[in-house]
Amino acid sequence: MFHHPDFDDHEQVVFVCDPAAGLRAIIALHSTALGPAFGGCRMWPYASEAQALTDVLRLARGMTYKAAICALPYGGGKSVIIGDSGRDKTPALLLAMGRAVEGLAGRYIVADDIGTTLADLAVMRAVTSHTAAATPAAREPLAVTAYGVFVAIRAAVRHRAGRDGLAGLRVAIQGQGNVGRPLAGYLHEAGAQLVLADLDPARAARAAQELGARAVDPDAIYDQAVDLFAPCALGAVLDDRTIPRLRARIVCGGANNQLAEPRHAAALAARGILYVPDYLANAGGVIDFHQEGIDDSRAAVLAAVGRIEGITAEILEKAEASGRSPQEIADRRVRARLRAARRRSAA
Ligand code: NAD
Repeated sequence: MFHHPDFDDHEQVVFVCDPAAGLRAIIALHSTALGPAFGGCRMWPYASEAQALTDVLRLARGMTYKAAICALPYGGGKSVIIGDSGRDKTPALLLAMGRAVEGLAGRYIVADDIGTTLADLAVMRAVTSHTAAATPAAREPLAVTAYGVFVAIRAAVRHRAGRDGLAGLRVAIQGQGNVGRPLAGYLHEAGAQLVLADLDPARAARAAQELGARAVDPDAIYDQAVDLFAPCALGAVLDDRTIPRLRARIVCGGANNQLAEPRHAAALAARGILYVPDYLANAGGVIDFHQEGIDDSRAAVLAAVGRIEGITAEILEKAEASGRSPQEIADRRVRARLRAARRRSAA
């Protein structure tokens, strides 16, 4: 474990097994230096336990970075349930998962993610209070992640092109799921021209028809003559094969862990492509969770998520002034906040 390539001094990794409930899960707490570790529970039919471990370690670390870059009082954690959510998810399995969360005594707050829903969290609440979406307004899910990406795009366009509106901006969006589809809606309303792709061609075609956009094959999305590329599907899509193909001058999207390797931030910068760190653009969920405890009205939540715009602008300005990549500036800021919190708790 301690030599795993994705191990980054995670505080705790818990392997959960409840054969009677059919549960095999891993909970990773990357850091609780800034507060309880917040993060979703993903249910996915991983091909191997090694894949599940890699995913949970990387995603937990990303959650630490999301909360810290937005100066929120949370750490980062994530959980994965190995299984097919369509076939294997039962109330017994969710209750067993809830008990595992409860066993961490508040060090981990579980949220919904791919393969789990707000209704699943409600089932878990019978055995644990450490879940997201416990307030009445949270019953109506808002497209908070997409809204955060949208305002990050506004900041990036203002920085790069010196203009405020998005009318006429050409954007290629990869993925038309829970994040990509509402992002397309926000951009369409703002007057952007969209090119869309999804592994499910019917999904891309439907969105394209609704928004007067163009749908292209999944692999063709990298070659589009656009101003901005928004990855909103899988991680690790920015690599040695795809970066040279991009014609966009900005990359800003909702997918987690978009860079195949850390060095690809520099590869983007070398091509003059402005890259907004993914964990900043897609931090809407953790901001939403924090806001639920203060004022969970729709307007208040969107205003809180809107803070991503100002933080993005500041990181991009600092990057330009220092000659470093936005990723490096954001990473440094997060690490400084974690170090300061650890010093405070050691004192
Ligand atoms: P989703 O499963 O709802 O949608 C993903 C979509 O991408 C699907 O329609 C899928 O068919 C499509 N897709 C997969 N591979 C593709 C490819 N190679 N080319 C084109 N389309 C492809 O997932 P989501 O909730 O929209 O999440 C998308 C990404 O955003 C993930 O990386 C996720 O980790 C990240 N994210 C999501 C949230 C959230 O609130 N949902 C929050 C933060 C980050």
